[in-house]
Amino acid sequence: MLPDMRGKKAPPQKTDENSEKFFRQHILSFPSVESHYCRKKSEYKYLDSSLTIKTMYKLYKLECEKISSKPVCFEKYRRVFREYKLTFHKPKKDFCKTCEVHKNTEGNDDQNNSHGDHLKRKEAARQCRDEDKETARQDTSVLAFNFDLQSVLNTPKGAAGPLFYVRKLAVYNITTYNLGNSDATCYLWDETEGKRGSVEISTCIYNFIMNKPEIRHVRMMSDNCAGQQKNVTFSIMCLHLLKVHPVLEVIDHKFFESGHTQMECDSIHGKIEQKSKNIPIYTPEGWAQVIRTARSNPRPYDVTYLLHDDFIDFNQSKKSVFQDESGQKLKFRNAVWLHYEKSAPETIFFKNSYNGTSYTKCTLKKLRGRPVIISEPAKLYSSRIPISNAKKKDLKKLCVELVIPKVNHDYYDNLPTSKLARDNLPEPDQLEESDYSE
Ligand SMILES: [Zn+2]
Repeated sequence: MLPDMRGKKAPPQKTDENSEKFFRQHILSFPSVESHYCRKKSEYKYLDSSLTIKTMYKLYKLECEKISSKPVCFEKYRRVFREYKLTFHKPKKDFCKTCEVHKNTEGNDDQNNSHGDHLKRKEAARQCRDEDKETARQDTSVLAFNFDLQSVLNTPKGAAGPLFYVRKLAVYNITTYNLGNSDATCYLWDETEGKRGSVEISTCIYNFIMNKPEIRHVRMMSDNCAGQQKNVTFSIMCLHLLKVHPVLEVIDHKFFESGHTQMECDSIHGKIEQKSKNIPIYTPEGWAQVIRTARSNPRPYDVTYLLHDDFIDFNQSKKSVFQDESGQKLKFRNAVWLHYEKSAPETIFFKNSYNGTSYTKCTLKKLRGRPVIISEPAKLYSSRIPISNAKKKDLKKLCVELVIPKVNHDYYDNLPTSKLARDNLPEPDQLEESDYSE
């Protein structure tokens, strides 16, 4: 019979079990969300992009210190992290799948040719931008600008440890950069005031252009995101704009080549991130302050804060499509240049290349082929959009612990919640395939 060891020394196996449980719990204590809500489900769950496995391990070691327990090694922590199918959310930017594939394969002639075309289109798009800039600098009736959504601004944000373990509020920003005078305007709203879809983006661009009553010709450029500005809703906004703007006659909307959409807005977003690095941010207004002070020359960036009743429902003609003269549906995916004229209501002219001279003409039709007349759009939201109870609970906890200072508590107290609200990734991730809902 073995001697009774009770009360003398814990069996070594038991300690391992506890420490195993402890570090597994630590990995799972970070809030993870499912993939982008309108996309195909991914088996991965996503952690905040501000986290890295190294930061997590550092936080884990701090927790171990608190309870005087020996941490497992980094390799083990990382291995188990992977078992859980967790990944860090990587916004889609700065990643060209076409170039990536080309780099990693011994291309045959066909592949090399198509990659060559891809690079030519990239150059052609940039040339378009430079020409528009030149024109706008000389002719004040031309407004040339590009616009882009920034990666989600997580709120609150700071270096305090507890901030890493909670669900955060998403704040969205669309930046417009005026090529004619280098001005930038940022449109900011939080996830309870609006989503991050085509209607919200359309509203921002609509406001931006309507605020310039002397403009006759708009030349804008953007990336190709189908869910944001390459779709029927955004086109309907453009057509409506031509109807109601006092002097606007023509809108040109060109798209950068996929994977190479770097534009001035991106460096503005970089500056905002840089500026926010060492500043704790507790509310969306905190982001507005950071943006206003991120540049001084030639002028500070302008910030417009949007509330839910500012958003306009341009997507009124659901189930409408743009069709060419032979009844073919306009494929937004292929378009690199969309053109609209005041003299041609309910019509898009589009081109599949920057250089080609002829446009294909498409008009707005109901699915059965009847023409659609665009009417006065209504408001999109009648009330704020609730967040999940779990998220509100996390944020309120930060208030109680005074990680969020008292002066900001009203804002958090007033956040609407609903049992039905789900926590999802607010934007698509690199891992997800982009899809076109035409
Ligand atoms: Zn590329």
